[in-house]
Amino acid sequence: MRLVDFHCHLDLYPDFEALVAESDLLRIFTLAVTTTPKAWPRNNKLASSTKYVRAALGMHPQLVAERWREIDLWEKLLGETRYVGEVGLDAGPRYFSSMDRQMQVFRRILRSCAEAGDKILSIHSVRTATKVLDLIEEEVPQGRAKFVFHWFTGSISDARRAAALGCYFSVNSQMLATDRGRALVSSLPVDRILTETDGPFTSEGGSPARPRDVGRALMLLGAAKSLSPDQSAEVVLRNLKTLTS
Ligand code: MN
Repeated sequence: MRLVDFHCHLDLYPDFEALVAESDLLRIFTLAVTTTPKAWPRNNKLASSTKYVRAALGMHPQLVAERWREIDLWEKLLGETRYVGEVGLDAGPRYFSSMDRQMQVFRRILRSCAEAGDKILSIHSVRTATKVLDLIEEEVPQGRAKFVFHWFTGSISDARRAAALGCYFSVNSQMLATDRGRALVSSLPVDRILTETDGPFTSEGGSPARPRDVGRALMLLGAAKSLSPDQSAEVVLRNLKTLTS
């Protein structure tokens, strides 16, 4: 069974290098998202010698209040990658105060991606799903970029709107452990679903989840969609191929 972990912070683990090698050895397609463009060179270097790991150029909304000036560096590096993330908006209580700045930065990210073309973005949208969709509609002409909502917690109607715009969703085991998460996932079109761990921010058996643990999300996804684990693995792999083709 081939696994897909489309959102994992490999560089936040103490054994970052070993983890890159592990994903590659186990042939798990892993998207190594980053939170600042300063992390790009090392992530890119480690990923570029693998077959199954790809690095994404990030600028995390939770860091924008402190690090918004790094958007210049982010923009300078964009030509080196097809994958972008983690980017987006966060209106949770700790980050709400930087919303204006977050919107400026995210608009700039979307515009740059639209201009460059052919980018795939892993999107954070805590309490901002509607706003993120508004910005995507305003800034990115159809077909100029592809979007994957990671750990989507918006409403079912926002999810429907995202799907109509062609967006994908990467789902993890923690999300699928709640009734709300399961209801959301069962409402999603099956051809738009990918799996993720969001490690190290989720855990497996008391330790931070690693890409090899993404089978658990696959199993829960199967349960939510009435598919066998093999079928859900096939579906996710097919979706990844469509997304990246
Ligand atoms: Mn994340």
